[in-house]
Amino acid sequence: MRIGIAQLWQETNTFNPAWTTAEDFGRFGVLRGSEIVQQLADTNELGGFIQSLRQWPERPEIVPLVRLPAWPSGPVTPETLEWLTDEMVRAVRAALPLDGMLLALHGAMVATGTPDVEGHVLGAIRAAVGYDLPIVATLDLHAHVTAPMAREANALVLYHTAPHIDVFETGQRGAALLRKLLIGLEEPVTALVRIPAVLPAENANTQDTQSPSYAVRQRLAELEAAPHVLTAGVATVQPWLDVPGLGTVVVVVANRDEELARKAACELAQQVWDARERYRPKLVGVQESVARAHQLDQEGVGLVVLSDAADATTSGACGDSNVILRELIQYEWKRGAVVTLVAPEMEDHALDLGVGRHEHMDLGGMRDPYCEPIILRVEVKNVFHAKFTMSGHLAKNLAIDMGPAAVLRHKDVLIVCTTHSGPHFAPHLFRAAGIDPFGVSVLVAKSPCGFRAAYAEMAREIMVVKSTGCAPPNYWEYPYRNIDRPLWPWDAIEGWQPQAEIFRRHA
Ligand SMILES: [Zn+2]
Repeated sequence: MRIGIAQLWQETNTFNPAWTTAEDFGRFGVLRGSEIVQQLADTNELGGFIQSLRQWPERPEIVPLVRLPAWPSGPVTPETLEWLTDEMVRAVRAALPLDGMLLALHGAMVATGTPDVEGHVLGAIRAAVGYDLPIVATLDLHAHVTAPMAREANALVLYHTAPHIDVFETGQRGAALLRKLLIGLEEPVTALVRIPAVLPAENANTQDTQSPSYAVRQRLAELEAAPHVLTAGVATVQPWLDVPGLGTVVVVVANRDEELARKAACELAQQVWDARERYRPKLVGVQESVARAHQLDQEGVGLVVLSDAADATTSGACGDSNVILRELIQYEWKRGAVVTLVAPEMEDHALDLGVGRHEHMDLGGMRDPYCEPIILRVEVKNVFHAKFTMSGHLAKNLAIDMGPAAVLRHKDVLIVCTTHSGPHFAPHLFRAAGIDPFGVSVLVAKSPCGFRAAYAEMAREIMVVKSTGCAPPNYWEYPYRNIDRPLWPWDAIEGWQPQAEIFRRHA
């Protein structure tokens, strides 16, 4: 028995003007064939696939195909989409015959002219292998789940958590489902319900008992434990995708029983729809949030975390907004303030300048369309390589390399600059920079929700800042041209009823 495994990963933000190209994929770490098993046997979905396959009683041969990952950013160029599709299809063709395939697809990639990249790639793979080969695809909880994806794959398996702490386990769940299909006991039928709502991420913490997403996660676990349900998920979607059909999607895959899949998916969709107002985030203005953090700093010890959701690098924003930085430098901080910038231009300045030197530098606003650079006199405090292995939100044992990096200091404010984008919230980044992220007065996390996995227990207070950027938490106040209306929270919608679309793909 031969099982092919592959990955396609990039979460697109259509408001970010920077194109994502083959070079970005190459930099993050394209792997082919045996390199995948050598390097990723305990990492994220691919690691989940590999560990599970090794335990199947059938002792299948693991056939590693290709891994194509890039950090979240702007849309993929048409040439890059062609290259990605070609890489994937060529790897599959070369590996035939296969008995099944596990694909980690993430599910929120957009290319210019192709709003559903994963549906497109799945279609290209089907054209090469036909419809007799079972394919199970795993997707992010923020996937833009489409009908073509449900049609081309035998089953879609979604993360259940945000922050995403079950990425590896989702790989394992996908593999377990593929085995059921292969040993011939199950015939999947998928019910897909699109909810006309895009839910803000800030209150969608599945680990927070106060969040409506906590109950959703409980329900998903119940469903997957129930007889005849193969998998269930709710994709609350990446909101910064200006594409047709944007919305939250419920997926329930049952064994043969169409009515069971339909009923479970509609009930779950109704549960999410009824809770929609509870997802509206409490946002604090830039000036107000920094003033509040300063007041807490005056009163005593304790970390304040400011979520700069609008410039979240995990949401595909540019990562070089200086809007909160401008406010932080208006104050003195007893234990310092920390903020990050994606700043490739630093390679030429700070790194050559050397530690201890002072210079006036243009900081931020080079790529973010919503702010201008600010000129500050800074001291180069540290130069380092932003390279580490990350676990927690998004990752299990994931190698991250954001290139040459520097810590700049302006008064009490430390500015961590990296050459490339990456997890600009991760404690690992700050530690690599020589900073204790839990020992400062205030830390800016460029993340809307995922940062909570690392900071919720340690922070004295967390505020979500209403700043500007490519991933604004108040996205419905920004111009979208391609989404279908009505759509909550852009529009108030009365009397919506869930309706399921049914897909069958028998191997
Ligand atoms: Zn996500």
